[in-house]
Amino acid sequence: MTPQLRIIPLGGLGEIGKNMMAVEFGDDIVVVDCGVQFPEEDMLGVDLIIPDITYLVERVRAILITHGHEDHIGALQLVLPRLPVPVYTPKLAHGLISVKLRERRATRDATVIAIEPGEVYQFGSNFQVTWFRVCHSIPDAMGLVIETPIGTIIHTGDFKIDHTPVDGRRIDLATLAHHGAQGVLLLLSDSTYAEVPGYTLSERVVGEALDRAIGDATGRVMVATFASLISRVQQVLDAAERHGRKVSIVGRSMVDNVNVAAEMGYLRVSPGLLLSLSQTRRLPPEEVVLLTTGSQGEPTSALVRIANRDHRDVQAMPGDTVIISATPIPGNELPVSRTIDNLLRQGAKVLYDRVALVHVHGHASQEELKMVLSLVRPRFFVPVHGEYRHLVAHAQLAWDLEVGRDGIFVLEDGDVLELSEGTAQVVGTVPAGPIYIDGLSARDSQSQVLRQRRALSKDGVVVLVLSVDKETGQPAAPPKAVSSGFMEAGETKPLFEELTVSLEALIGGAPWLGDQAELMKSKVQETAREFIAGATSRHPIIIPVVLEVQSGRS
Ligand SMILES: [Zn+2]
Ligand SMILES: [Zn+2]
Repeated sequence: MTPQLRIIPLGGLGEIGKNMMAVEFGDDIVVVDCGVQFPEEDMLGVDLIIPDITYLVERVRAILITHGHEDHIGALQLVLPRLPVPVYTPKLAHGLISVKLRERRATRDATVIAIEPGEVYQFGSNFQVTWFRVCHSIPDAMGLVIETPIGTIIHTGDFKIDHTPVDGRRIDLATLAHHGAQGVLLLLSDSTYAEVPGYTLSERVVGEALDRAIGDATGRVMVATFASLISRVQQVLDAAERHGRKVSIVGRSMVDNVNVAAEMGYLRVSPGLLLSLSQTRRLPPEEVVLLTTGSQGEPTSALVRIANRDHRDVQAMPGDTVIISATPIPGNELPVSRTIDNLLRQGAKVLYDRVALVHVHGHASQEELKMVLSLVRPRFFVPVHGEYRHLVAHAQLAWDLEVGRDGIFVLEDGDVLELSEGTAQVVGTVPAGPIYIDGLSARDSQSQVLRQRRALSKDGVVVLVLSVDKETGQPAAPPKAVSSGFMEAGETKPLFEELTVSLEALIGGAPWLGDQAELMKSKVQETAREFIAGATSRHPIIIPVVLEVQSGRS
């Protein structure tokens, strides 16, 4: 059988986050990105969500990283212990990854190799890969050209087209045009903002708005943004310096990112500009800028703590100007608006995307996506990186441009797309459900634990204690009910009295031995559930416990 080229998204298609995609030919697999997703509010106790790598047990030659965002690198420290292969990555992401991998014993010896754009890297006998520069909301973001025995694949990574980026490094459109002219088999392109018409504004526009906001402020300024948005950090540092202010960084992930970026030369910091918090506290407010995390309303972040009057070192005060230089990621709108409200209550002035141009997206809008589609003109097209509707919107753009004339495929996680030189089709699926990381345990979506926690969080738990004589199997005492998180003690007292009476009637007389006991337990559970639901419209978890006691013959 002739080997086929297979494209298998394991994360990031039909959702935002945990990006991972396998590219397979014959005996070789390369994996593009290895990201995490953060849990939603109803995923109780879940710390992180990572892709399912069941399919990737063998033949993987390397993991290829496009850039240093968490949704592309954040699962490495959890995946590498099970999939010990080398990681190839652009330089800044290399710095960020190395910090994380060093923290854990299981990943301390992982092989992480910094690539140079334009160089050719060989993986197995079937893949030659070259990275090329794109613009995005973190420096050193790249796309991939993957040469396979049956044709060229281009993966854009996350990108936008910015002709005036803060770091001066533009997207390498020449490489896209070059391969487009040579003929491209398959294009995989970022769909995050495929619904948004027009062009994404340049970072320069934000720089000007930030400069104006900091220049106009009469008191202290706080700027919240993504820790990884190094270009924004640079703009804040530059504006602060221009207006005679000193900067302190608040929040651990922001400190880590700024240190790595400055050490590696991605951030220009004038000597004496950055001060510790205790140093800036001695300065008058109009000479201070605080740079913090918390632009997404994350509960443990510095800005949210400040907004909740819960931060050890910083209190908001009248005269403060707070700039939230980010847009809430879908799902984070509520915590972000709560944070804004709390800051306003304390007399701060708050600038955010709805009222000032203090943020632009890091992803291409429709006109940029069309430009890439037109330059590359692939035979097959697969939109990547987005919710299902983003993927469909991107597919529609390609359709309108008559790009992807041999096939446009809207894939979801786990779909297996098989390509030959002339045809492509979805031939099946592999496991690609979310893996929930909960402390040190990993659980899949079948897990009872998460479902039970949800039920507990809604209606609490009722425990029914049934005392049974060890020898006769007869009830030794009336049943007892205790509850937690269910109702107020005063409310449960009469309810439980009535419940135990009806349970007594149920269990009296029947022997509680061997199999009978299990049967009895489920009967008790069923009766109690119906009784409680009928009396209270609540559905607590009900746990019958059989307590075997010595008979009182003594
Ligand atoms: Zn990104
Ligand atoms: Zn991304």
